[in-house]
Amino acid sequence: MKPAPDAGSRKGRAWQVLAGVPDPEIPAVSVCELGIVRDVLEAEDGALQVVLTPTYSGCPATEMIERDVREALLRAGLGPVRTQMRRAPAWSTDWISEDGRRKLRDYGIAPPAACASASAQAAGGEVFVLRRDEAPACPRCASRHTAQIAGFGSTPCKALWRCLDCAEPFDYFKPF
Ligand SMILES: [Zn+2]
Repeated sequence: MKPAPDAGSRKGRAWQVLAGVPDPEIPAVSVCELGIVRDVLEAEDGALQVVLTPTYSGCPATEMIERDVREALLRAGLGPVRTQMRRAPAWSTDWISEDGRRKLRDYGIAPPAACASASAQAAGGEVFVLRRDEAPACPRCASRHTAQIAGFGSTPCKALWRCLDCAEPFDYFKPF
């Protein structure tokens, strides 16, 4: 039986390092908070194997994330390091953590609407009730009086919206 990784173990330290690796497109949020890092394993050959699920298959950020993850772990002396892409199940905006959603909002990006997940309900946790077809709230004034300006924002992952109350345009991280 394998012991659970504690903070002092190689895997535990790897998770701590990865929690400090920012997303290349949204540096306010870490790759862990976005749910990109799925698992950290120790391979039989002694390499640390980081399992990643990219947010969008077409996102050029994926290669940068692989590089940043490898470099951060090597700098922390946790090498050798390997990254492994896991594309199934596909990444979902539902994987963004509560901390990640709050940081997106603080950064001026409306976090994606999330479906009430069966696991969250089973755990008795807080369940998002915003439906996917509802307008996102303005990240600045929290008004729901918002309108989409363009289907694509600063990246294909986001749509450009405008708040009709404070007139500020903002990026909306599209749920999918
Ligand atoms: Zn507003």
